[in-house]
Amino acid sequence: MAAPVRPHFLARHPWLIGPLLLAATAVGLGLALKAPDRIAVWVLGGLGGLALLWTLSAAFWPSRADRTCPECGAEGLRRMDPATTRGLVCTSCGHTDAEASGWFLAEEEGALDEVIANRHRSDS
Ligand SMILES: [Zn+2]
Repeated sequence: MAAPVRPHFLARHPWLIGPLLLAATAVGLGLALKAPDRIAVWVLGGLGGLALLWTLSAAFWPSRADRTCPECGAEGLRRMDPATTRGLVCTSCGHTDAEASGWFLAEEEGALDEVIANRHRSDS
C-alpha cells in the first residue's frame, strides 16, 4: 500500500494565507507608488502576457480530473453511481466516500449532460 497523499504546504498551514496576501498587497502598493512608471509598464505587460499564456494553455491543454485516492494514493477513483455525480470509490483499495463530488470525473467522461438531464427529469 502506498503512503497517503501529503496535503499541500498551505493546506497544512492555512493561517499563512492571510499574512501572505497582505504582504503581496503591500509589495504591490509599494511598487505602484514608489517605482518609476517604466516598471509599471513592464509589470502590467507581464501580467497581460501571463493571462494570455494562461488562457491559451487552458484552451489547448485542458485540466484532467484528479483521480488520486486520498487513502492509497493510486489513480483509482471512479464514480459510485453512473446516474449521479455524488460519491466516489477507489478501484485499487476499495475506499469509498459517499459525499465526495464526482462532477469533474463525470465531465471528463462526457456523462455530465446526461446526469443533469436525468436530474431535471426526476425533479419535474
Ligand atoms: Zn485507494
